[in-house]
Amino acid sequence: IVQVQSLHKRYGAQTVLDGVSLDVAAGEVVAIIGRSGSGKSTLLRCINGLETIDGGSITVAGHVVSRAPKVLRALRQDVGMVFQSFNLFPHLTARENVALPQTVVLGRGKAEAQAAAQALLERVGLAPRAEAYPSALSGGQQQRVAIARALGLEPKVLLCDEITSALDPEMVGEVLEVVQDLAARSMTMLLVTHEMSFARRAASRVVFMHAGRVHEEGTPAEIFERPRTPELVQFVRAIS
Ligand code: ATP
Ligand code: MG
Repeated sequence: IVQVQSLHKRYGAQTVLDGVSLDVAAGEVVAIIGRSGSGKSTLLRCINGLETIDGGSITVAGHVVSRAPKVLRALRQDVGMVFQSFNLFPHLTARENVALPQTVVLGRGKAEAQAAAQALLERVGLAPRAEAYPSALSGGQQQRVAIARALGLEPKVLLCDEITSALDPEMVGEVLEVVQDLAARSMTMLLVTHEMSFARRAASRVVFMHAGRVHEEGTPAEIFERPRTPELVQFVRAIS
């Protein structure tokens, strides 16, 4: 459902992605790991059409990614993205935050959007907090609202960039549970993460990026217990 071929991306003179190739099948959960600056976020942003690319090609859910308005509209609908910093609107309640893209992107009426939002909050275990403003929610709860908001567009692919990095350790579990529930429902996900335990428990495949390329990939056990390249050996040692 996601095909990345020989993707190149530069910022000025700096090559950030130097021939990334990656295929993700529908229903797969792929964790992307690698050192800070290795291009993980840039890769997700390219997949989502948020960046121009300098070479190669990306296909997502049948769309050849480009910056053409028509393609971007299709991508907004088919590709969801969740960030480290929840990016909720502070002046809207949890339910209003989730309802917003329902009206703006899907063109639903207000009542229908609110009802859909309530159901989505239920799915992430937050129905009782629907009227709360973000400032009154814990980090884990805010992140679950952000996930519910992304799910509201019924994306075919969900991109998650370090969604547990800003959370206190005790809140990582509740977000992990939501991700695992989505995985069980065959949601295709790309998860950029620094957390080995999160990658291990959520992902079916792990991709290690280094120097702008996919340096090594395999099952969580292969990557974390039997790393083959010196770069991955060193990385695994550093994060464990
Ligand atoms: P981290 O683990 O710290 O989030 P990352 O793997 O996500 O790192 P990226 O954010 O993709 O890394 O950045 C890759 C490289 O591209 C870095 O060297 C970064 O400084 C550079 N970069 C990212 N965005 C921009 C930008 N908008 N303009 C210029 N350089 C950028
Ligand atoms: Mg990043």
